Amino acid sequence: MSSIKEYFSGFGQGLKSLVTGMGVTGKEFVTPKITEQYPENRETLHIADRFRAELTLKYDAEGHHKCIACGICQMNCPNGTIELTTKMVDLPDGKKKRKLDKYMYDLGSCTFCMLCVTTCPQDALEFTNDFEQAVFTRDKLVMQLNYRPEPADDVASAPAPKPAIDPEKLAQIKAEAMAKAAKIKAEREAAAKAAAAQPAAESPADASASQASEEKQQPKAE
Ligand code: SF4
Ligand code: SF4
Repeated sequence: MSSIKEYFSGFGQGLKSLVTGMGVTGKEFVTPKITEQYPENRETLHIADRFRAELTLKYDAEGHHKCIACGICQMNCPNGTIELTTKMVDLPDGKKKRKLDKYMYDLGSCTFCMLCVTTCPQDALEFTNDFEQAVFTRDKLVMQLNYRPEPADDVASAPAPKPAIDPEKLAQIKAEAMAKAAKIKAEREAAAKAAAAQPAAESPADASASQASEEKQQPKAE
């Protein structure tokens, strides 16, 4: 008796599953079909905003990106897809600051896991939905993300060029320095000559000693 009950129970479940499946098939059967005429419809093609096609740095209207070259995205990337190089720049206050030099991204090895985007502390990265990335060689998939020229106020943090010295002023400074050196040399030569001539003359100590001796030998006139 129980086996007959199990039989009809299983039959009912199977029938229900069949009807559910046929319902989905029937719905799709009457749904209007869409065939994308790509690439003819490239201008009107809609790609979902969340589609991950290519990593890029976010730029504002002035061309600034927010990357501070901390290297967190590079450390978190499981494939070594990101390679950063940095440079040190001198600030106007004399301090040094590390800045991004090159942000290299290899689209060919990216798994689009988005770890780099979610762990960036500056919210400096995003994925574009530009899906047309086909190229003929893999090396063309390696891209520099900071490809834009640095804005002027970023460049201002580089050391200011030293003002050029006026050639006339430079010549005057040189002439003054040479005249001063010649004067010092002449004074030294004169002092050396005077020192060489000194032994021929009687020294003041000798003169006072001979005068005292003469006074001793002369009788006192009293
Ligand atoms: S993109 Fe973000 S995580 Fe990567 S180096 Fe720049 S600031 Fe750091
Ligand atoms: S999406 Fe993933 S694999 Fe691609 S660069 Fe970012 S962390 Fe690396």
